[in-house]
Amino acid sequence: MSHDKVICKKCILHSRVPEVMIGDSGLCVFCEIGNQITTEIVKQNAVSLEKRMLDIFANVKKQRHSFDVLVYFSGGKDSTYALNLMKNKYNMNVLAYSMIQPFVTDVAQHNMEQIVKKLDVPAIKYFIPEAVFKKVMAYSLLHGHKYGLTEWVGCQICGFFTKWVGVKIAMSLGIPLVIDGMDSAQGGYGVINEGEQVKQRIRNGQKPFGKVHDLIGDALGEEYKGSIYDFNQEEILNSRYPTAMSPLCFVEYDPTFSFSNLEEMGISFKQFKSLNTNCELLYLLDYISMCRYDCDSYIKLYASGLRNNYDTIEQLELDQSAHKKQLTREEMIKLLDEYRDVLFYVIDNDLDEQSFNDFHQNKMLELAGLSQNMFGKETVGKLLSRVLKMKGQAAYLGIDLKSIPREFIDVSATKQDVTQIY
Ligand SMILES: [Zn+2]
Repeated sequence: MSHDKVICKKCILHSRVPEVMIGDSGLCVFCEIGNQITTEIVKQNAVSLEKRMLDIFANVKKQRHSFDVLVYFSGGKDSTYALNLMKNKYNMNVLAYSMIQPFVTDVAQHNMEQIVKKLDVPAIKYFIPEAVFKKVMAYSLLHGHKYGLTEWVGCQICGFFTKWVGVKIAMSLGIPLVIDGMDSAQGGYGVINEGEQVKQRIRNGQKPFGKVHDLIGDALGEEYKGSIYDFNQEEILNSRYPTAMSPLCFVEYDPTFSFSNLEEMGISFKQFKSLNTNCELLYLLDYISMCRYDCDSYIKLYASGLRNNYDTIEQLELDQSAHKKQLTREEMIKLLDEYRDVLFYVIDNDLDEQSFNDFHQNKMLELAGLSQNMFGKETVGKLLSRVLKMKGQAAYLGIDLKSIPREFIDVSATKQDVTQIY
């Protein structure tokens, strides 16, 4: 494959991004597919999934369970919305479940507590031990591409821990359903994975998370055989595997509406305005992805937002008066280029909070000209202070960021090899 960078004419995906091919039309494969799917098809699909979901809910409520549904709860706006929906619209007996890895911010943890109190739902937190997190994260960042993991490898690994431990908890508590807060920008047109079908696929040799189970086994070694992280076919086949779905992909969901909805519940919009993410590790993950694929971890999410006219995460940080328009394709491409230049500058100059000075600050602000124009000096300044943590985080994980070559690699595995859906 040639590594000449060809950018899709319609969105921001380019030929160095894993799974992206640019056809003769100049469009990427995602835009091509998008062109074939009409709003009518999307609507029909959503209607039929919603009907199936309601049938499943009715069925579950007829039976007696400790809880009807386990909701993956990150403390962010989407999972809060999903939790509220399950409890208050569908009257489900919910259990909120959160995975706390070492880089979940204090703000995110505080939000979780406030929200479960406000919603008055039972909640559990699973704190993943640092030893496990470090081992798997470091191994995945260095070798994940050999298992078919792509530009968002770090988030895929956290997603795996979240969902897999959630499935194991659901199985052991006899909870028949698990749901997450992915919306259609993240999760596409939505699926319902019935537990019995997942088990049938396991009998046919297809593990729920594909090669990620192999990666986890290799990263953790013999010591963790039989642990909660392990895939044990017999254990799964002898249990009731929960049915999984992402209802926000197919029920009516307006992400901006969810803010006002949360305000009504007394949950401040302001707490979701913190810079983009619940995870502080994102900049380091983005750096590695920039080295390997010349894109950040969430380029497909941004591209999908552009394609479907959704707001991007950055825009939702702006206050509503400043929040006038969607970013254009050209602006997004430029912003991501600036972001890459800033990340590379930090690593090339070995910067951290101690070594950073005014000279560096000015240089970095210069690199991020459009970002400053669009988001203001203060927001960009906050971002700059966060990227300085990369050096310490790399040391924590035992990774030498300078040893990661800036040459583009092909990810050979296909989507089917790394199923991110249960
Ligand atoms: Zn495209």
